[in-house]
Amino acid sequence: LQNQLLHADRLATIGQLSAGVAHEINEPLGSILGFSQLIKESNTDETTLKDIDKVIKATLHAREIIRKLMLFSRQMPPRKSRINVNQIIEEGLYFLGSRFVKNAIQLERHYGKNIPEIIADPGQIHQVLVNLAVNSMHAMPDGGVFTIETNAVNEEVHLTIRDTGVGMTEEVRQKIFLPFFTTKDVQEGTGLGLSVVHGIVTAHHGRIEVISRPGEGTSFVIILPVNEAGKGAVQ
Ligand code: ADP
Repeated sequence: LQNQLLHADRLATIGQLSAGVAHEINEPLGSILGFSQLIKESNTDETTLKDIDKVIKATLHAREIIRKLMLFSRQMPPRKSRINVNQIIEEGLYFLGSRFVKNAIQLERHYGKNIPEIIADPGQIHQVLVNLAVNSMHAMPDGGVFTIETNAVNEEVHLTIRDTGVGMTEEVRQKIFLPFFTTKDVQEGTGLGLSVVHGIVTAHHGRIEVISRPGEGTSFVIILPVNEAGKGAVQ
């Protein structure tokens, strides 16, 4: 619990800090882009044009990092309603579908029957799925199997997301929820995806279990409580 509190505290501080910094940096980045564009239009020298394209590319990349930071720091308190997890997942998978196909990833679904409705923010649960799925895709550059499973266990709904990707060492596993922790290169990772997942699950009074083996794959189990008001089987 101590650790969780520390984490939440740290997230809140980083959130506030990054919102301010992101905003400040966005302005000069806009100028860099604007003036680079002007230089590009008023030059014909090939070397200069090549160089200026590099400046533009790097600036766009920096803007993308800022965009993610702003999204991260704008984490809202959940707007909860009664939701059917299976339905939210199915809609999310529909949204992600073509990316699985493009990455040669086989999709397996095992939806538990009689999953009780939970009180949760559908948009945030969607975000959890997307962030975990994108990480799984990165972990399976040569394709593989992505499995999604839901189960009702006592007063909880367990959402398991499994991939047959590169997996991670115990040392990495212990750090994955820290904001800005990433093993990816700067183009691919900001280290915020799982921090966002952690923040959302905590705001829903849930917990996350991670099982991973290098070379074999990774499972994330998102465990969400069924609120009193959410009791009752659907489907
Ligand atoms: P990012 O994806 O930008 O690096 P995340 O917070 O989403 O940030 O993930 C942090 C790190 O956790 C990743 O860099 C990677 O090392 C590890 N990780 C996350 N998901 C997986 C996965 N499914 N398989 C292997 N490693 C993973």
